[in-house]
Formats: sequence, structure tokens, C-alpha cells
Amino acid sequence: MKPEDFPQKIKPFIIPAQSGDVAYRCLGCGQEYGIEKLLYTCPDCREVLLLYDKEFDRLKEIPGETWRKIFDYRRMLNIPSLKGIYLYHEFIGPIVPLESIVYLGEGRTPVIEASTYLQEKAGARFWFKNDGQNPSASFKDRGMASALSYINHLVQKGSVKDVLAICASTGDTSAAAALYSSYLKSNVKSAVLLPHKKVTPQQLSQPLGSGAAVFEIPGVFDDCMKVVEALSEKYSVALLNSKNAWRILGQESYSYEIAQDFEYTLSNLAVFVPIGNAGNITSVISGFLKFYAIGIIDSLPKIIGVQSEHANPVYRYYLEPVPEKRHFKPITVKPSVAQAAMIGNPVSMPRVIHLVNEYNSLAGRQKIFFLEVTEQDIIDWELTANRNGHIACTHGGETLAGLVKAKELGIIDANETAVLDSTAHALKFSIFQEMYFENSFSEEYSIKPRPELINKPVFVYPEDLENVPAPGNPLKGKEFELFVNRVADEIAKSLRLKPV
Ligand SMILES: *Cc1c(COP(=O)(O)O)cnc(C)c1O
Ligand SMILES: [Zn+2]
Repeated sequence: MKPEDFPQKIKPFIIPAQSGDVAYRCLGCGQEYGIEKLLYTCPDCREVLLLYDKEFDRLKEIPGETWRKIFDYRRMLNIPSLKGIYLYHEFIGPIVPLESIVYLGEGRTPVIEASTYLQEKAGARFWFKNDGQNPSASFKDRGMASALSYINHLVQKGSVKDVLAICASTGDTSAAAALYSSYLKSNVKSAVLLPHKKVTPQQLSQPLGSGAAVFEIPGVFDDCMKVVEALSEKYSVALLNSKNAWRILGQESYSYEIAQDFEYTLSNLAVFVPIGNAGNITSVISGFLKFYAIGIIDSLPKIIGVQSEHANPVYRYYLEPVPEKRHFKPITVKPSVAQAAMIGNPVSMPRVIHLVNEYNSLAGRQKIFFLEVTEQDIIDWELTANRNGHIACTHGGETLAGLVKAKELGIIDANETAVLDSTAHALKFSIFQEMYFENSFSEEYSIKPRPELINKPVFVYPEDLENVPAPGNPLKGKEFELFVNRVADEIAKSLRLKPV
């Protein structure tokens, strides 16, 4: 629909203008910093930062009801820069002009109701939000669209040039960083650091395919992160890990979309998120808080953060019920099929602590919970979901295992429904499905395949056939007829088909 065709009341707001006054704020000392320079930690106390809009309250001048209409009508626009996460421009990055926005098809991911069978089996009504249907096949694209749009803005203003964007990754951050950087080639180049053999072949192929410089480092993600931090302190590079607060802003779009997907009525909803470096859950909490503050939603949904037993520092922190006695301890991770969340020292932990406090106290009761699940449950639930019409990645399996656990523990009750974050596409992690089907997990995973979930291809090659077709070498006449019939018969026998 063309902008001039929108209702009078909405027209003035339908195309957002550059607005607001965005600054970094340190979560340690409270100091504020301007955004002209790219900052990742407080120059004073080294704590992590969040971006906030000093003029945020101006958004309250528009009633929540009007905001809801603005976003709903905006979906009908055909302006690429407003089709993705910047549909919520006023909340995502109001100081970024539309002409700087990099849109590669991220955001607006589908919410798919779980199949009837799967809902019965899990014992709850729920949906998957398929963030694997983003351009690089994970939710990381939301944050990269934001970070690279801002960098693009700085490039266009002439305040930076020849940017080298760098990140450490459990696989998906580097795929997204390399993709978005390569779109801005000539102004932005990218380099990614991966833990050697700790990302899947599909994830490794992504930054290679996008032309990034790819470095594999011994150790796990936490080790790569330290190297990247050292690089960003000593050299002039743009850090694209979720330490970069622009990433957090972009990922808040996930919450805004859920609000819109559920008609802005979230009182009976529980949102399940897997936790690794804790950037995603930071964004999810922050997003709902902002929509709540402006009156776009009138209740805060429950949020349940899920971790594997093999990488559970956030869960452990919150095991202590008395806030004053909580003490954060990084842990040493063990191998996990939820490999993108295999992180023992999450960078965003201070952000989580800060925002969880705010969320629960605004809600007047505990609305954020943390759970741990077993490796066995993660993969069993992933495979079960996918045998019932879904495309969940292992982390989607993790959130589903979390839902089942939450029901058991009484964290959510019968009238509540859930949205599960399937953070990436199943194909990125197909190697774990293969290990399951081949029963080839090393002992550290503690996974025993359940026979009813195993699936393997059947090679059909009737022994009595002298010749079979080969590429470039087709069979002809009677010989081909025999081949077709014999193979068809074998398949029919295997499927126990009845003749017509
Ligand atoms: C990065 C990632 C996570 C973990 O998100 P954090 O923001 O690091 O907590 C979970 N799942 C997938 C597929 C990821 O790529
Ligand atoms: Zn500080």
C-alpha cells in the first residue's frame, strides 16, 4: 500500500523520521557516553553497556492504541528498510536514517502452532517462532542488521571508513556478521574467530562463502572471546559480538514481533529462550519492557531462560533464591548438542541481572525463570518436533524440553500458552541428528539414541540385477524395464503396500 493511502490518523506516523537521542549507559557506574565512537565496555569501569534513548518518553505522547495501529499498518508498506526489524524504528534505532538501513530479509519470522500430536505429547499449547527462517538461518541476523545499519550510517556520514568487523562465534554470529559485512563490501570487511571443531560444517561454510577471513582457534568459545577482546582493545576494529549494544537493540525486534503476532495481548503467554552468551534473553526482556513502558502491551509475559546441564552458569546463579546471596561463577562447559549456547562465561550476565530485577519488580511478582535440561531431552525433543512437521534446531529442542520441564515444575499452568524460540534452522545442526542416528556420540554428551527416533536411508539394489543405471550410462529397453519393476517391488515390499 502507498503511504498516501493510509488513514489520516496514521499517515503522519507511517514513515518514521530520524529522531531521539541515543547514548551508551554503563551498567556498572552509570556513566553515559556518546555514540559517535563505537564502544563496547565502559572506558572507566570496564562493565558492559546498554544503549538507551534519552528522549524515550516522547514516545508516550502517542497512545498505545495508536502505536499498535502504526505497526499493523506499517506491515502493508513496500519500503524495504521498514520490512524487517526497523518496522519498529522508533524502538530499534531511531537515530538511524532509513537510507542507512541494511535489509537482507531478517525479522518477521513465522510463528507456527505446534502440531496437535506434539502439543498433546508436550502437554501444553504452544508455538514455535522460527528464527531459523532469517537470511543466515539464525536470530543473529536481527542484531547484525542493527549493528551494520549503524556502522553504515557512520560510513555514510564519513565518521568511519575501511571498517574491519570482527567477532568470536559459536557459529551463527560469524555467519550473520560475514553476510551483512559482505553486503557493505569495500567499506566493511569481516574477520571471524571460531573454536576449532566446535562449529558444524554448515556453520563453517557460511563465513567462508561470504568471503570473510576465518580463523580457527584451539579451545572453546570463551577462549575465542578473550582473543577478540584483546584485539578490540589493542587495534582499531569494530566488535560484532553481543557485547556490542547495537546487537542487543536489533534483537529486541523478536519481542516486538511476538507482541504483534499475539495481538498485543500477552497476559497468558510464556516465552522460552535458550541462553548462551545471554545476549538474546537480554534483548527479549528489554524489548517487552519498552513496549510495556509505552503502553503498547498492558502486561508482561513470563520469560523462561533455558540452559543445558552442560552449559548452565545462568541457571546456577539463579538457583540461590536470596538475591543478596547470589554470586556469579563462570563454569567450564561440557560438549552440548545445543552447541551455539555452549558458553560458560556469558558476556551479558550483568545485563541479565539488571533487567531481571527491573522486570520482576515492575510485574510485582516473579515473571522470569531459569531452567536446566538434559542433553538427552534436548535432542529427543528436537527430533520429535521435527518428526511432527517442524524445523527446530537443537536449541528449539532445548526450549521445548524447557517447556515440558516448566509444566512439571508448575512454573507454567494449564491456561498458559508458550512461544518457543527455535533460534536457528535445523539444517545447521544436522550433524547432531546424524550422530544420533549413527549412535556415535562420545560419552561426554551422555546421549543414548531411542530406537523409535532413529531414521536411516535404505539402499535399494536388487542382487539379481546384472546392470543398474549410472550417471551418463542409462539403461535401455527390457533391461531398464526390469530394473524399474524390481526396484518398485522391493520398495513396495519394504512399505508393505497392497496391490490395487
Ligand atoms: C547464539 C545462539 C544462541 C544463544 O544466544 P545468546 O544470545 O548467546 O544467549 C542460541 N541458539 C542459537 C542457534 C544461536 O546461534
Ligand atoms: Zn562504568
